[in-house]
Amino acid sequence: MRVGGRVEWLLEPRDPDEVREAVLAARERGVEPRVLGGGANLIVRDGVLPGVVVGTDRLQRLFRPGAEAAERPAGELLDPAVAADVAPPERGRDPRLVAWCGATLPRLVRTAQQLGLSGLEGLVGVPGCVGGGVAMNAGGRWGVLWDVIESVRVLEPDGTVADLPREACSPGYRDGGMAGRLVLGAVFRLAPDNPAAVRARMREYLLEKQAAQPVTEWSAGCVFRNPDPERSGGRSAGKLVEDCGGKARRRGDAIVSPKHGNFIVNAGRASADDVFGLIEDLRALVADRTGVLLEVEVKTWR
Ligand SMILES: Cc1cc2nc3c(=O)[nH]c(=O)nc-3n(C[C@H](O)[C@H](O)[C@H](O)COP(=O)(O)OP(=O)(O)OC[C@H]3O[C@@H](n4cnc5c(N)ncnc54)[C@H](O)[C@@H]3O)c2cc1C
Repeated sequence: MRVGGRVEWLLEPRDPDEVREAVLAARERGVEPRVLGGGANLIVRDGVLPGVVVGTDRLQRLFRPGAEAAERPAGELLDPAVAADVAPPERGRDPRLVAWCGATLPRLVRTAQQLGLSGLEGLVGVPGCVGGGVAMNAGGRWGVLWDVIESVRVLEPDGTVADLPREACSPGYRDGGMAGRLVLGAVFRLAPDNPAAVRARMREYLLEKQAAQPVTEWSAGCVFRNPDPERSGGRSAGKLVEDCGGKARRRGDAIVSPKHGNFIVNAGRASADDVFGLIEDLRALVADRTGVLLEVEVKTWR
């Protein structure tokens, strides 16, 4: 969203062991660290955010399984440039990919397509990283990330590392059900398919997404969760905002996207306070007109 200030402490571990050390070091000093993925679903306050943020930016490994997911050397490293050059004879090969939490979702989706692996194309156009995607159960009408997760490796709140099979987790709507766990990585089980067919589906979904959402502008994705259809008369959060005249609302450079009522866009110099203020304005507007109190989906660090 390109708003917000700085953080008191930013730790950028290079591998899952260092993540654990960073988290434990913060806790020893009485601070519960926050975890930052791509920041695509996050609004951070202005000024200085007290405490510790663990950034996962450097944990970018993406590979085929072949050994323990978090060990090196493990499996076959997948560089997107290399993957693009290789004609991938996928059939008969292990159709799984392993990603550390800092690998970006666009890279994961693109690599799977290039290797002729289907299952992630519904995530096309969704920014952010694997850790944030797992925590948020990112996705939409063409599927969600947890549809293709075989297992996740997590740092438990007690500091131990655990591999959780899909069956042990209860992901829901925009919620991976990770409850206090830090996602270190995930194993994705995909299905062999023709790379051209996968690419064609991605193109179709992306065109639809681009037509409906302001994907190239500065935003944090959908601001509100879609309410229970029984309470909202089947209307999505964006439709409710739109029907109540919310698209005309703004605070400074924080505006409601003309393209989609559930997106707040930073049109230039918005502050985090502008965005927080506009969110409250929209909630009050919709509650006043319809009786539906919208729940905020985007994460906020204040
Ligand atoms: C233009 C645009 C379009 C979007 N479209 C979609 C869409 O179609 N569908 C959709 O679902 N989302 C969409 N989003 C939102 C966003 O892309 C997803 O929620 C994405 O999964 C966020 O990932 P991130 O790495 O950026 O998470 P962040 O924003 O960095 O973090 C989000 C939350 O996850 C937590 N988190 C991050 N990493 C970890 C980790 N390793 N372990 C545990 N918790 C972690 C953070 O603490 C925070 O609470 C969109 C966003 C934008 C800007």
